[in-house]
Amino acid sequence: MAAGDSLGNQFNKQYQETIDLVKSRAIWRIGEKVSEGEAFRCTCPKCRFESLHQRFDISRYRLLFGKSIREVEAPRPMLRCRRCGEQRHLRDVGELVVPTTIALADDVRAQSESVAKQTPPPSAPSDGLRAAITLFNEEASGPVRLIVFEGVVQTIGSEHDELLRAIGKALFLNEDQISGALRPSS
Ligand SMILES: [Zn+2]
Repeated sequence: MAAGDSLGNQFNKQYQETIDLVKSRAIWRIGEKVSEGEAFRCTCPKCRFESLHQRFDISRYRLLFGKSIREVEAPRPMLRCRRCGEQRHLRDVGELVVPTTIALADDVRAQSESVAKQTPPPSAPSDGLRAAITLFNEEASGPVRLIVFEGVVQTIGSEHDELLRAIGKALFLNEDQISGALRPSS
């Protein structure tokens, strides 16, 4: 059958094969890049040992010809137990134990203190406080956000209801959690 191919047909066939090759090699693929951060000790919910945990971030990239072109989503902040290998997203960690999360919580506290020093305190969070909360929310779980909110209530004073409710909402807490933290403990 090949003997019957005209020169034109052969050329067309080769041309099509070249196009197919280029197309197949130019397929966008997704690659993952892992970067490791600080290690620290905490209790693993799976193996139940107090052990070293490794903080790491997974970034996903679009790859073209095996070269990373651009990030496709924000890096995922993760935690791995070095003893049993259990992996968790930082937002699944119920205690304030991860060094990066502690640092972000400290920023939220510092911004709250500067808001509390204003006389009278404003009725809405400052831009600096909002920015600190946005970064903190990226990797803090619900229980950790509530712990930090309770500290902010102490700092600012529960009489500043409107300001604190706005801060609680920015921390993605629900009405019950906010009201619970604002209720004066007797
Ligand atoms: Zn473990």
